[in-house]
Amino acid sequence: MPTIRQLPPGVVNKIAAGEVVERPASVVKELLENAVDAGANRIDVTVIKGGSELIRVVDTGCGISTNQLSLAVASHATSKIQDADDLFKVATMGFRGEALASISEVSRFRLKSRVKDADEGAELVVDGGILQPVQPCGMPAGTVVEIRDLFFNTPVRRKFLRTPQTELGHVTEAFNRIALAWPNVHFRLIHGQRVIHDLSAVDDWRDRVIAIFGNELSDVLIPITGEANQMQLSGFVADPVYSRSHTRMQYLLLNGRFIRDRALQHALAESYRGLLLTGRYPVCFLRIDIPTDWVDVNVHPTKLEVRFQDSGQIYRHMLNTLRSKFLSTDLTARIGSSSHSHDEVSSEIAPSLAVGRSTQLQTESPHGLPWNSAPAESPSFAPKPLDETHPEWTPTNRFVDSDRIAVAPQPPAESNRSESESGLESVNFEPKQSPPSGLQLLNRYLVAEDESGIVVIDQHALHERVLYEALRDRVINSKLERQPLLVPEMIDLRPEEHAAVMQARELLAELGIEVEDFGGDTVVVSSYPAILGQISAETLLRQAIESLLNGNGHLERRDLLDELLHMMSCKAAVKAGDRLSQEEVEALLSQRHLCQDAHHCPHGRPTALIFTPEELDRRFQRT
Ligand code: ADP
Ligand code: MG
Repeated sequence: MPTIRQLPPGVVNKIAAGEVVERPASVVKELLENAVDAGANRIDVTVIKGGSELIRVVDTGCGISTNQLSLAVASHATSKIQDADDLFKVATMGFRGEALASISEVSRFRLKSRVKDADEGAELVVDGGILQPVQPCGMPAGTVVEIRDLFFNTPVRRKFLRTPQTELGHVTEAFNRIALAWPNVHFRLIHGQRVIHDLSAVDDWRDRVIAIFGNELSDVLIPITGEANQMQLSGFVADPVYSRSHTRMQYLLLNGRFIRDRALQHALAESYRGLLLTGRYPVCFLRIDIPTDWVDVNVHPTKLEVRFQDSGQIYRHMLNTLRSKFLSTDLTARIGSSSHSHDEVSSEIAPSLAVGRSTQLQTESPHGLPWNSAPAESPSFAPKPLDETHPEWTPTNRFVDSDRIAVAPQPPAESNRSESESGLESVNFEPKQSPPSGLQLLNRYLVAEDESGIVVIDQHALHERVLYEALRDRVINSKLERQPLLVPEMIDLRPEEHAAVMQARELLAELGIEVEDFGGDTVVVSSYPAILGQISAETLLRQAIESLLNGNGHLERRDLLDELLHMMSCKAAVKAGDRLSQEEVEALLSQRHLCQDAHHCPHGRPTALIFTPEELDRRFQRT
């Protein structure tokens, strides 16, 4: 019969630590919350090796008196609540009294503190849960917490730590969330010798948002305020032109606490309905302030999720406030245009960048069309130039590249053997005698006749599929052409973006995107995939970063590669709404049979609908 035992405190604390301390970023979060609760007006965070070697948080808060120092690291010891009723009026960030106990259990921990009117401070060292005697020490008023060798005594946990860059990304995110919530506190984040953020105290929240998330936001923030029945909503939402492919840029602060809440995210999405393309998500920095007893913050170990007494009421308040703001804001100019997302806006700006770059491309492409990085060697499907009726028309139209990469350079008959070794046989084909004729309708569908009946094709989805397969083939066979940039492009990133890029450098290089570290959070892009010549290197890299961050470091290399290929083909493909010339229609249709799966775009949506003669006869009641 199994024996039931009371676990020793060390084990209990390790179990608790498992909930609270997942990685260095969790430690940073807890320590920052403590410093904020202590009323500090200045907080400095230093980390080394993404926090796995050292995390130090120095604050100017109220401090801890010497005789309380060892209580601070005891479990379930807190100065913030007294009884269970207090759990429903939590006005501080912390209240569980678990953080310091948990952290000091799984690290080499040092706590130094001095209250204002004390003559000196005191220091407490805890080594993997074992307390050393408290020692006096000299220091200014405030508190210093130092954590070294996190998880040194829990090797399994330590094994789960990612690269310093990845951990730094998480640390930065934890830092951003708290620094965002407390604009009147001066925050600093330092990694090794590098200052990542130095955010002086500001009166205007907008200044803090921009200081953290970058100047690019300054033109797109729409101020929001709305008060109703003790609920106060304030902050900013981003103009629909600035959106993301994920919800991570949705910062909701409930009574100063960063939270994730499905209902509120839904309210946000709902308010943007019709303003964003599918798959794009709003960006926001919103504070919601409600009476503390309307919400239970004690439902999640790291307090990331909360439970509202009446979430419907808050949902409606948020939706109404945002909707009426949008109604009174002139967004029409943008809504009318085909692109609502940030990256697509940058591709609208891209022509100027592209022109700059095409100077160099012109040496190869006499027509200077940035899409075309080299003359078409295989004219099989490149439409022939017309005549004076189309003086603007150039033979190197936008499908030429996909022809080039999809078609083996030699005539199909000869190429079979040599190319099959490299796996290119899947794209070898006999050109059809006469390319299928088709027409474009509604600027987005191609209609053609083939042996199965009438085919209606989504032009974007098909082009995307064609490009995707061609790109994939090229990458698998290491045949993707790089286009070196004459003037390498410098791109300023956020720390976590920088971390993600540096970690994926090799992968990006395989895709033709060569990136180097330039110091700080700046990188230099020195080449990009030739086939994507019409997209600016910056747009491409930023898109890639979104894919990288989306995977959250959990994606297998192969999946990540696939994701990036999808992204690149999607970006490079013609869009719904693009008017195609007859030649382009023909060129695109003629590539249909090159796809292994011509019926679905890489996202799985159908690329084509087929109306068989039987179906049509039936509908016209001929049968
Ligand atoms: P909690 O924050 O939930 O109370 P912690 O384990 O994080 O639990 O901290 C325990 C106690 O230590 C806090 O209640 C607070 O009184 C004290 N404390 C921790 N960090 C600081 C700090 N930076 N400045 C002042 N007091 C602190
Ligand atoms: Mg705490």
